[in-house]
Amino acid sequence: MENEDVNIPNTIAEIPKIIGGWVNVPDHLKCKLDLTKIRLKPSGLVQAQVWNKYTWIDLYDINETVPKNKLSEKQLLALSVGRERLKIARTCDQCKQIVNISDIKNVEVGKFCKDCLKELGYALQVHEEET
Ligand SMILES: [Zn+2]
Repeated sequence: MENEDVNIPNTIAEIPKIIGGWVNVPDHLKCKLDLTKIRLKPSGLVQAQVWNKYTWIDLYDINETVPKNKLSEKQLLALSVGRERLKIARTCDQCKQIVNISDIKNVEVGKFCKDCLKELGYALQVHEEET
């Protein structure tokens, strides 16, 4: 019965070693830390190893990666709180419009979009930068 199990990990001996350090590592091979930085994790087998100071570092093909695990509950909460805060900070107290953070100004009685500020009679003490 033919049953090719692709999940059998490489044995240590099979893994090609890249001699001469990181300069000799091709662009498509990344270590786990590199991948983590770009929110990926390996889905394939170790492609090679490179010597890094005192140990062999596993390298993975960047084409064999998947997005890193979902954020933790805590991270998700922090994100949503941050988003909510930003949304609130961008919402005009008067017309409830959500505008760019640069288009909303805090005054004594609240924060308002440019239009509402004018309506409320506030002189805009901002440099109107025409883009
Ligand atoms: Zn407004």
